[in-house]
Formats: sequence, C-alpha cells, structure tokens
Amino acid sequence: MVAVPRVAHIFALAGVLSVSMCICRPESIPSADATSLPSHEKKLVIFLTSDSAIAPAASSEMKQELSHLLQPAAIHVEWQDPAVDRDAAENDYSALVRLRGSCRPTEPSARFEHAVSGPFTLASSAVADGVVLPFGDIDCAALNSFLGPSLWKEPETVQEFVYARAVARLMAHELYHVIGQTHGHARNGVAEPSFTVAELLSDHFEFTETTLSELHASPDVAEYSERTDSDDASGK
Ligand SMILES: [Zn+2]
Repeated sequence: MVAVPRVAHIFALAGVLSVSMCICRPESIPSADATSLPSHEKKLVIFLTSDSAIAPAASSEMKQELSHLLQPAAIHVEWQDPAVDRDAAENDYSALVRLRGSCRPTEPSARFEHAVSGPFTLASSAVADGVVLPFGDIDCAALNSFLGPSLWKEPETVQEFVYARAVARLMAHELYHVIGQTHGHARNGVAEPSFTVAELLSDHFEFTETTLSELHASPDVAEYSERTDSDDASGK
C-alpha cells in the first residue's frame, strides 16, 4: 500500500532494571467490579501476521494477556489469520497487526551484537491525514534490544512467557490509538507515551480506569463511517 507516515508510536525511554518475575496473572482482580461491567460487549477482530513463527505457548499467552487488558473495557478479542480468513467477520473494530522481525527472546549469541541504547520505537500505528489507521506494527528487534538484558538470565520458559506478555502490552497500546482514534496518551498505564522495562516485565500493568472508560465509549466502525464517509483516509 501507499507509504504511510508512522507517527503514533511509543518511545521506550527507560534503562534496564532488575525485576523479579513470577508467572501469575491477576485473574482475580477484575471480578470485584464484575457487576459494573457494561452489558454490551464489543468485538475486536485482529488480523495477525508475523514475520517469524510464534511458539504455541507464546501465542496463547499473548492472546490471553490482550484479552485480559481489553476485557475491562468490554471489548472481546477474536483472532484471524489474514492468509486464511479473507472474510471480514462481523465486528465493531478490526485491526491488522504485524509482528515484525523475530518475536522471541533474544538468543544469547546475538545479545551483545547490538549496542543497547535508546530510545527504542517498540511499536507504532499508521497515521494518514491525521487519522489513525487500523494497522499496528510491533518491532521485535527493538523489543529484543530493550528487554534482552533483563531477560537472559531467566529460564527459557519464563523468558518466553514474559516476552509474549510484553508483546501483548505493546499491541494493546497501539489498539488504544486505533480504537480510540486518538493520538493522545494517558498519564499512566498501558496508554502512557513510553514504557519502562519494569512495566513491560511487571506482573501488573494495565490500562487505567479512565482509559478503560474512554475505550468503552469509543464509537465503533459503523459510527465512524457515518462520520467520515466522504473522507478517504487510506488512499493518500
Ligand atoms: Zn502511543
């Protein structure tokens, strides 16, 4: 497609931190406010492409984490492989997400080949004429440089788990721009403008309540097309 300036991006600025890791998901936390969940759940279909093969366990963790992040905004995630699923399923939102490069924890031999210096652009979304397009991009080479030094001492299974979770958090950030049709950022949480290593590795890193409300209130595709039906955003 036409080259599109990628300007809605994350700059990850922070240095390397030492973080203790535990493989646990805070599943129990959202249940406390289950009664306040909005009744109408919206559907987000993600067409996922990846330059490299993703291990089944990593893929599963990535998908679980993304669902976990968007569920409190009453957004249900479904996944499709664009090579297989050509039909657009009925949905409220859709996005094409590409995992660029080798999306797995860095091999020890390659670890020191690249100088680790920031800032890294870990993820980005396409923008044309001020409109955020539904194309997200995760730069796994940048993520490897960013996380590698903190991950390599961990057992392989931990590395894989934590890495997949970090990828999901980057995706969630870009989907915040796409769903919310915003270039803005939140002060904290997954919608903040830059991530630290600690946040990406943390057991608890989510959208804030304010961001979840914004996401939940975002117009869906039909509402957008009513607003912008004379506006061809993608061809320029
Ligand atoms: Zn951003």
